[in-house]
Amino acid sequence: MLSAGPISLFYGKHLALDDVAVEVGAGETVVVLGANGAGKSSLLKAIAGLVRPVPGARNRLDDTDLIGMAAHRYLEQGIALVPEGRGIFGDLTVAENLELGAYTRHARPHETRQRDLVLDLFPRLGERQKQIARTMSGGEQQMLAIGRALMSCPRLLMLDEPSLGLAPIVTSELFAALGRIRETGIALLVVEQNVKASLAIAHRGYLMEAGRITGTGTADALRSDPAVQEAFLGASTPPTPLSNGVSP
Ligand code: ATP
Repeated sequence: MLSAGPISLFYGKHLALDDVAVEVGAGETVVVLGANGAGKSSLLKAIAGLVRPVPGARNRLDDTDLIGMAAHRYLEQGIALVPEGRGIFGDLTVAENLELGAYTRHARPHETRQRDLVLDLFPRLGERQKQIARTMSGGEQQMLAIGRALMSCPRLLMLDEPSLGLAPIVTSELFAALGRIRETGIALLVVEQNVKASLAIAHRGYLMEAGRITGTGTADALRSDPAVQEAFLGASTPPTPLSNGVSP
């Protein structure tokens, strides 16, 4: 479905992405792991059309060539990004934020269906329809940001550090919801510091270092990779076996 790359990206003279290529199949959940500054956010922004890569980059969703399209048209094509920091409208209510999520031409006819899906996934948003978004907790705001993105009927939902700053119990709820979104058949591309929880919902993953992809594999293979364990899973001691359920 998504075939992105090779993509290179400069900020001034700084090469943030160096011939990076990732693929996400229909209905697949893919995680991108890497240290701070590896280029993960830049990769999502490039795929969402929010930054301009070096000419010659490729970024296709099925048969559609996305390169050169205006950023708002990416949403029309079915690519939604929940950025780090969430990007909701803080002064608007929950209901208004969700309504705005469905503003694109292809999403408008499905507004009711998508709202039902969002409220089923995040019942608290249903209870808080009239609440001003910025007065909600960090976890509730993240759920609203994901809900708003779902209102656009994405085929590919990209999430940048969705659990950042959330308490462990809220993080568990969030990953349980992501697991349910995965079951709806929406493809997910997720950047996360919480490697254990993200590998628990992912089919596959990529490792990123200094603007390059340095490894890729199934979630199981990555979880048992000594380099991943050492870098991300705190494994100087033997790794803790993962439970079947999703936990942070
Ligand atoms: P983090 O987890 O800390 O967000 P990341 O892996 O998402 O890191 P990016 O945010 O993509 O990494 O940043 C990659 C590199 O590009 C970093 O060195 C960063 O300082 C630099 N960078 C990111 N955005 C800009 C910008 N707007 N202008 C200049 N440099 C930038």
